[in-house]
Amino acid sequence: MTPHTNDKTPVTLLGLGAMGTALARAWLAAGHPTTVWNRTPARADALAAAGARAAGSAAAAVAAGPLVVLCLLDDASVGEALADADLAGKDVVNLTTCTPAQARARAAWARERGARYLDGGIMAVPPMIGVPESGGYVFYSGPRELFDRHREVLAVPAGTTYAGADPGFAALHDVALLSAMYGMFAGVTHAFALVRGEDVDPAAFAGLLVDWLTAMAPAAHGIAAEPGAGDEGSREEPPEDVSSLAMQVAGTPTFLDTARHQGVSPELLTPYFELMRRALAEHSGPGEPRGMVDLLRR
Ligand code: NDP
Repeated sequence: MTPHTNDKTPVTLLGLGAMGTALARAWLAAGHPTTVWNRTPARADALAAAGARAAGSAAAAVAAGPLVVLCLLDDASVGEALADADLAGKDVVNLTTCTPAQARARAAWARERGARYLDGGIMAVPPMIGVPESGGYVFYSGPRELFDRHREVLAVPAGTTYAGADPGFAALHDVALLSAMYGMFAGVTHAFALVRGEDVDPAAFAGLLVDWLTAMAPAAHGIAAEPGAGDEGSREEPPEDVSSLAMQVAGTPTFLDTARHQGVSPELLTPYFELMRRALAEHSGPGEPRGMVDLLRR
């Protein structure tokens, strides 16, 4: 590395899987001196040929610069990889997917070793990295001034969204958004199962599904305004109830009967229908009714 030829912030990146490799390529392409390390060294070869410096150990990679980014498989692999590294004075940015509790524990662990710590949750797949128009971004949580200090370099591979000072908040937002995505995939899987075997063009049907889900997505704002959703004073008025819960619960046999007639298991639908039924029962029972979100919380 020749620092006098380049005033861009040096980046050390640990983990060259699909995502780590994409991140490294983005920083290299933007001219950042980039040191990489991977447990299986051969995965660094192509990046070294493209101008990265391949460190012989994780500890050597960490020693190479003040900003250390991790993109490993899981939280356990972060502990393993950094076991022999001296983190004193380092700014550690951990983009490894983990739980909020793991992120908080990892932040304390890093602080005990003299490092400053930001946690990250990547809302992108590797082909979206380094492609600003893809809409990919990363949630960050931890000290605001640490985020601000590195925002420019962190914005090279993907957009940056600050989720809060609590180090667990990036993971919380990441997991919450991905959980909603899995719910959507469950619905899409069920919908395709209903039409499969019929004279329905799957590609045309996919287009209908995308348009419909896009039109329905703003319903999230209505759920934000459910009873129990935070401060009563600042809460927005719930939207007019144009699709009453009673109407929706009355309609569930149509969905279950159609599934049965089409030879499709209702297993992806029934848990949500059961929650709707419980919410309706709450509304006709004694006391303040609770919304479906609160019913799900134990
Ligand atoms: P890969 O499976 O492609 O790569 C995993 C990486 O972790 C490899 O570099 C692997 O090294 C390393 N690793 C695994 N175990 C250890 C260990 N015990 N010690 C040291 N290194 C270890 O995963 P991705 O690159 O796709 O994902 C990396 C992170 O990014 C994950 O947390 C993932 O959830 C997150 N992410 C990934 C997305 C994606 O679409 N790919 C999207 C959003 C987030 P080795 O090569 O030696 O096996």
